[in-house]
Amino acid sequence: MDVLYKSTRSDGELIPASMAVLRGMSQDGGLYVPAQIPQFDLPLEELCGYDYREIAYRVLRLFLTDYTEEELRSCIAKAYDSKFDTGELVSFRRTEQAEFMELFHGPTIAFKDMALTILPHLLTTAARKNGEDREIVILTATSGDTGKAAMAGFADVPGTRIMVFYPKNGVSPLQEKQMVTQKGENTRVIGIYGNFDDAQTAVKQIFLDKQMQEDMAAQGFRFSSANSINIGRLAPQIVYYVYAYTRMVNRGEIRCGEPLNFAVPTGNFGNILAAYYACRMGLPVGKLICASNSNRVLYDFFSTGCYDRMRPFILTTSPSMDILVSSNLERLLYHVAGDDTEETSRMMNALQEEGHYNVREDVYNNLEIFAAGYATDEETAAEIARVYRESGYVIDPHTAVGACVHRKYVEQYGDRTKTVIASTASPYKFETAVLQALGEDAAALQAEDRGPERISEISGVQIPRAVLDLRSAPVRHRITCDGTKPCMEAEVRRFLGLAQR
Ligand SMILES: *Cc1c(COP(=O)(O)O)cnc(C)c1O
Repeated sequence: MDVLYKSTRSDGELIPASMAVLRGMSQDGGLYVPAQIPQFDLPLEELCGYDYREIAYRVLRLFLTDYTEEELRSCIAKAYDSKFDTGELVSFRRTEQAEFMELFHGPTIAFKDMALTILPHLLTTAARKNGEDREIVILTATSGDTGKAAMAGFADVPGTRIMVFYPKNGVSPLQEKQMVTQKGENTRVIGIYGNFDDAQTAVKQIFLDKQMQEDMAAQGFRFSSANSINIGRLAPQIVYYVYAYTRMVNRGEIRCGEPLNFAVPTGNFGNILAAYYACRMGLPVGKLICASNSNRVLYDFFSTGCYDRMRPFILTTSPSMDILVSSNLERLLYHVAGDDTEETSRMMNALQEEGHYNVREDVYNNLEIFAAGYATDEETAAEIARVYRESGYVIDPHTAVGACVHRKYVEQYGDRTKTVIASTASPYKFETAVLQALGEDAAALQAEDRGPERISEISGVQIPRAVLDLRSAPVRHRITCDGTKPCMEAEVRRFLGLAQR
């Protein structure tokens, strides 16, 4: 069956997957969604016998139906290789509480690598398939992890350029160092004085700006996106939920067909949306537990049916989840509203113009598979300490938000369903918060540059290559600007050599 893609905000145009990957988002401001969500075409038992790469192929072929088998297998082989520090790409760690699925064994030590190592290959393949000979310009807003992972994937890829905007005062020191030391002639990093929502909003506006598009086309460029608004990022994220299920079956934790819960630390709603798609494909899922930090806009939404972004933006110890406008929720709303583009547009317009919207009652009732909670910075630190005390396992603050919310959920509802918690970043990426939570003198350790060594002593886990490499890496990017569209657009024009407006 051919799966075609359409916008969440209008009916009519149906395009193949490769075109949706190439475009990134729809011209009407909506996001691309599959017109029909594909179903597994083989029994789960059979998937249990496959490794990660083979499961990736079996899942991606269902979503990216206009890619040939050879194309998909080639993308998978190029992405999922020794860039990952574990042969099976994803590791699992069992504690008393749950199964932690470590998604941070890629080159930038956060889960974004699971999709951003393959996206450049999917995108360049899409360009070839569609006879696109213009240079592809990837514009990306990042809350800290996407930017680096995208640049690592696109650096020096012929026919592409990538530009990343990150909140100058809203990322961890290691995240910032990772970004400003990025190599590659085709990369450009800009620190903005604003937050992730400012960056994401301006990037979407630049994307949709007619004048910008004309000037780009005249000079032989076209935009695409590495943000999770690109379906080429979502599809690879579905794979590890299927993979996790099969590993739990293989280890005898669950019987094939038995439901499994997933707890996901959430910001832009991309990761957990992939879990929702896995469920809609036929994966037996009990609950999807959406875990937020103090920017609890999603928790409030799931508890009340009202999404309200008009609130203070809080900087937390889990900065990659400091987001008030979760883009991918639009896709979920579209699906739970019965693929209703008018209703989706109404809500998205209200969000844009009034800063809030309410879902209809029947739509709200379709959100049953989700549970939601949040953890403050204090609770997050206490969770890191607790997991270490009970299991000798050191987790990062994002993962700790997931663990804390899961624990509170079990206490409240007594749901004993086996649960996989998505472990989204390495503790080494958020050294200060992790050391402090474990009662260490972070400032003193860091003054001597001994933070990573101390985490290694405590956790018994080797310091990742990505952290060691940064020690000697020179700074290559120093540009900053306001987090406003005119300012960011001027930087895009400068990067591409286009005339200023
Ligand atoms: C991006 C990120 C998240 C949030 O994922 P979304 O797909 O944006 O919901 C959580 N944890 C870490 C470490 C991340 O980098």
